[in-house]
Amino acid sequence: MVDSAADMAADTVLYEKVALIGLGLEGGSMSHAMRRGGLAGHIVGTARSAQTRAIAAEINLVDEVTETAAEAVRDADLVVLAVPVGVMGAVAAEIAPHLKPGATVSDVGSVKRAVIETVGPHIPEGVHFVPAHPIAGTEHSGPRSGYAELFDNRWLLIVPPAGTDRAAVARLRALWEGMGSHVDEMEPDHHDLVLAVTSHAPHLIAYTMVGVADHLSRVTDSEVIKYSAAGFRDFTRIAASDPTMWRDVFLTNKDATLDVLGRFTEELFMLQRAIRMGDGDMLHEYFTKTRAIRRGIIEAGQDTAAPDFGRGVKP
Ligand code: NAP
Repeated sequence: MVDSAADMAADTVLYEKVALIGLGLEGGSMSHAMRRGGLAGHIVGTARSAQTRAIAAEINLVDEVTETAAEAVRDADLVVLAVPVGVMGAVAAEIAPHLKPGATVSDVGSVKRAVIETVGPHIPEGVHFVPAHPIAGTEHSGPRSGYAELFDNRWLLIVPPAGTDRAAVARLRALWEGMGSHVDEMEPDHHDLVLAVTSHAPHLIAYTMVGVADHLSRVTDSEVIKYSAAGFRDFTRIAASDPTMWRDVFLTNKDATLDVLGRFTEELFMLQRAIRMGDGDMLHEYFTKTRAIRRGIIEAGQDTAAPDFGRGVKP
C-alpha cells in the first residue's frame, strides 16, 4: 500500500542518477521504493560478488549494474552505501576519487558514530555527506529480499555531522519521505544508544536464547525445535539475521551495546530473584509495565496487534 508521503512525492525526480553500493535487503528495497515513487532518473547498482550482480541484472533490480563501485558513482547525484558497516570506510576510500562535485553520499548503516568516523575523512571537499539509518529491516538478505513497501511508515533517522549542507539534508529527507518513511534528525551518539536499546541488544539476546535452546535440544532430542512456541519462534526469526551485518553492528557499537547489556543483566538478576523468592506481586507489576510498552508501540503504528504480528499477510 502506498501511503500519503509516497503519494505526495510520486513522480518527482529528486536525483537524476542514484548509485547504490550494495544490492541486498536495504539497497534493493531502496531501488524498488524509488521506482515506485518515480524519485530517481536512473538507478545504478553494484555489489561485491559477481553472483549478486548477475541476479540483480536478471531480475532488473536496478537500471544498470556495474562491476565496480568506482564505475557506479561516476556522475551520480546521490551515492548510498548499503553495505555492512565494517566495510563502509574501505568502500568510501574506493569511490572518493570518482565522486561528482556537488553529489551527496549517504548510507543506511545501523551504527552512525563509526560510519561518520570511517567514511567522513574520505569525502572530498564539495561533496555532501549525509549519514542516515532506516529503522526498517527483516531477517532476510541478498538481492531478492528487497521490496518497495519496506520503508512505509517506518522511521528514517538522518544523522548529519556538524556543518552539513542543509539543502543536501532537505533533499535526502524528501527522498525518504517519497519512499514512505517518517524522517527525524538525531545526534550520532544518541542514535547509537537508542538503537542499542531498541535493536542491537535485543538481537544479541535473541542470538543467546537460540544458542541456549540449541544446547538444550541435544539433551531433549530436538523437542525445543519441535514444540517451538511463539516466544521462541520470534527469537529464532531475529537470530536468523545476517551474520556479517550483525557482527559489524556489535563491533562498531561496542560501548552502547555493552552499557545496555549491563543494565539488562541487572534486570534479569532482579527478576530471577523475584522468581526464586516467589514474589508474584513484583513479577505481575513488571509484566504490566512491559505490556503497556507493547501497546504504545502498536498505538504509534510501529507494529500490528494482528495474530502472529500480521506476518501472514506481509510480503
Ligand atoms: P545484505 O542484504 O546482506 O546486503 C549487503 C550488500 O552489500 C550485498 O549486496 C553485498 O554484496 C554488498 N557488499 C558487501 N561487502 C561489499 C563490498 N566490500 N563492496 C561492495 N558491496 C559489498 O545487507 P542489508 O540488510 O541490505 O544491510 C546493508 C546495510 O544496511 C548494513 O550496513 C546494515 O547495518 C544496514 N541495515 C540493515 C537492516 C536490516 O534489518 N537488514 C536495517 C537497517 C539498516 P554480495 O551480495 O555480493 O555479498
